[in-house]
Amino acid sequence: MRTIAARKSGLPWLLLYLALIMVPLGVLLLGERPRGNGFWWDFALLLGYAGLAMMGVQFALTARFKRATAPFGIDLIYYFHRFLATAGFGLLLLHVGLLAWKYPDALGSFDPRLAPRHMTFGRLAILAFGAIIISSLWRKQLRIEYDQWRRLHVLLALSGVVLAVLHVQGAGAYLQSPWKRALWSGLALSWLLLAVWVRLLRPALLVRRPWRVGSVQRERGRCWTLTLTPERGGVFAYHPGQFAWLTLRASPFALREHPFSLASSPTREGSVQFTIKELGDFTRTIGDIQPGERAYIDGPYGSFGVDRHPAATGFVFIAGGVGIAPMISMLRAMADRGDRRPLWLFYGNRDWERVVFREELDDLAGALALTVVHVLGEPPPDWNGERGVVDRGVLQRHLPSDRAGLHYLVCGPGPMIASIARGLDELGVPTRQRHSEIFDIA
Ligand SMILES: Cc1cc2nc3c(=O)[nH]c(=O)nc-3n(C[C@H](O)[C@H](O)[C@H](O)COP(=O)(O)OP(=O)(O)OC[C@H]3O[C@@H](n4cnc5c(N)ncnc54)[C@H](O)[C@@H]3O)c2cc1C
Repeated sequence: MRTIAARKSGLPWLLLYLALIMVPLGVLLLGERPRGNGFWWDFALLLGYAGLAMMGVQFALTARFKRATAPFGIDLIYYFHRFLATAGFGLLLLHVGLLAWKYPDALGSFDPRLAPRHMTFGRLAILAFGAIIISSLWRKQLRIEYDQWRRLHVLLALSGVVLAVLHVQGAGAYLQSPWKRALWSGLALSWLLLAVWVRLLRPALLVRRPWRVGSVQRERGRCWTLTLTPERGGVFAYHPGQFAWLTLRASPFALREHPFSLASSPTREGSVQFTIKELGDFTRTIGDIQPGERAYIDGPYGSFGVDRHPAATGFVFIAGGVGIAPMISMLRAMADRGDRRPLWLFYGNRDWERVVFREELDDLAGALALTVVHVLGEPPPDWNGERGVVDRGVLQRHLPSDRAGLHYLVCGPGPMIASIARGLDELGVPTRQRHSEIFDIA
């Protein structure tokens, strides 16, 4: 649900991505080429190279380059990453399958003591990539805890690519000339440098910019608001609705960071706030965090927010539970900026006691041209408001009939976003006017 403008500005990055896969393949076909092994042989080898190039480029996709990720949003990037890595692995399986079918002798013995080293490296690479795909697609079913999975993921990805490059260099097909060999070695090196940037250099930069926890405040609905101030210098520039990766009680090198929306407004300088719901191993510890503890923040990221749609005549915010976090940031910013555009907030919660920022929303409704519509799954007996979930009926009852220039921002868990998307379809809201932030990317 990204905007067309976002898709347009993302086009150069998509083309760059495609070039990073296609150019190395094109280079293989230039100049001197091996002779006489037949179409299927060449095809199988090219599939292998294409699969490897796709796997290698995944390091760029997940390197969090702000300019490259901004047009898409993190959910789309991770979806793309998962999709392309699975497709790349599919090509690698086809590479092996085709060779096994048409040229079984070329694969030789599976026994590592008898097989040439580069063939064993190739087999181990396939195993590593296979383990990545299985552990990523079925992580929850396999009951692998997220942080453990992440460390495993990095280890398997690095070993898979190194083993695959060793396989390619050993097999040497299409890499007879020194310049082709150098190009593929350079390519492999660039993938590994990206990993070094992500895992070592960026954490090293974060270590140099530590933050302190200023306060930890309990909110309704098993949520906590953390206020953090930078130890040195000012707060980074951000737009309301963006998010950052937060590390608490760990070093940035430990891969124990979690994404949270910035709930604070950039108009209020000096500190940032995150509002976090207790959900799992990490978020359940937030209430134990003490003022003064050190934190690290990598951000801002994301393209979700009102600032990307200056031409909107008004906004409809739809949030479920802690999905209010980016919305409150936007509402606070719009109030401070004196924005007079009409706004609606449809806020779904199980019951009245879980409605985070209840009182502040009342104040914001007074300060802005904001209509707040609470929708409760289990309302109290005297409740006169909306019940159930936010759906087409609820939206229709509160939105004006002339809503052509409105943009819709939806935030919450994946299933909620899917159900709202159906409601917006039924209302005929164009895709370019809908934007979402999904809180579960994995
Ligand atoms: C862009 C974005 C913004 C978010 N903003 C907020 C917010 O403002 N407030 C809030 O309460 N929650 C927010 N979340 C969700 C929050 O990141 C997860 O609830 C939290 O990481 C769960 O961690 P856990 O260890 O407590 O739970 P677990 O039970 O371990 O994990 C629950 C689920 O959260 C996801 N998750 C866990 N760890 C990570 C991680 N390190 N990186 C990515 N996903 C992870 C996985 O899908 C996992 O299955 C946001 C998520 C995203 C993607």
